[in-house]
Amino acid sequence: MLTGKEAIFGLWYKRKGSSTSHKVNPVIDESSAEEFNIVPLLIKRIDDSTLLKRGGGLISDKKVLIIGCGSVGSDLLFLLSRSGLKNFTIVDNDKLSVENTYKHFLGMDKSLMSNFKVSLLKKELENRYPNIQINAVESEILSAIKNDKINFNDYDLIIVAIGNPNVERKLNELIHETNTPAIFTWAEAYGLGGHALMTNNKGSGCYECLINKKDLSFSSSFAGKSDVPFIKNLNGCAGSYTPYGSMDSMETALKAPRLAMRYIQNQVSGNPLLSWKGSDKSFLEEGFETSDRYKNVPFETLYHDNYDYIDPECKICSKHVEVNL
Ligand SMILES: [Zn+2]
Repeated sequence: MLTGKEAIFGLWYKRKGSSTSHKVNPVIDESSAEEFNIVPLLIKRIDDSTLLKRGGGLISDKKVLIIGCGSVGSDLLFLLSRSGLKNFTIVDNDKLSVENTYKHFLGMDKSLMSNFKVSLLKKELENRYPNIQINAVESEILSAIKNDKINFNDYDLIIVAIGNPNVERKLNELIHETNTPAIFTWAEAYGLGGHALMTNNKGSGCYECLINKKDLSFSSSFAGKSDVPFIKNLNGCAGSYTPYGSMDSMETALKAPRLAMRYIQNQVSGNPLLSWKGSDKSFLEEGFETSDRYKNVPFETLYHDNYDYIDPECKICSKHVEVNL
């Protein structure tokens, strides 16, 4: 029966005896077939597209810019590489240090310490996955833009995972001067949760919409207002860090690649916010309070695309919509 489907099989025509008197091709020359034994071969396909299909991935040549290669950024680069994306530019000026051993994808290989994270990630992932190309830019993002090392128009998608609201607000503004869509992603302190926000994907909704202009708090935030920053000092030498465990950063890192893969397959409508909510135990124990959003939003609804955050008066994305009309 003809199904139109392809099948691959292997056969070895093994010549009987040691006669090499004349060269024949038993497939073409049927009369010579009895000079051969036919041995079936087991075929194992290891070409890239077959391997990716087996892994549930999708080959895509979309150019993705990842800004920030800390714990969230490095995990999402790894997840996107495993999903079949092949073309990345990664930007970060941070060097690998021992303090982040349990939070960073690269772990604690002493020979790697004090090297730029972006160059280490490039080497590691280009070794692991076939045909992947990573352009590593050892620079802070705003300097990279200023020095013409990065132009947002060169990419199909931008992912921002730096966890610095001041820089992210500026990037949001710059992204809206281009037509390149972006995903912002960040984790909250003490495992309270994390977020991924699509923006510049036709229509309003952006990072600036989340910010309450009176006190610069985030409407998406699970942490309540506090005069004390949610930062703990590990010890004098290690400096400060935002406390959340490895699994919390990984859970946050999962949101952005899922959104990215949906975008690549044209399955994202507008600019949704996706969040996950973790336990508030450690946060409350430290004497902080959770926000009304944390208290009131049921776990289930967080996993759906949310558009309630959009500010129709937003000076960044509403302006952008007007320009397009
Ligand atoms: Zn906005």
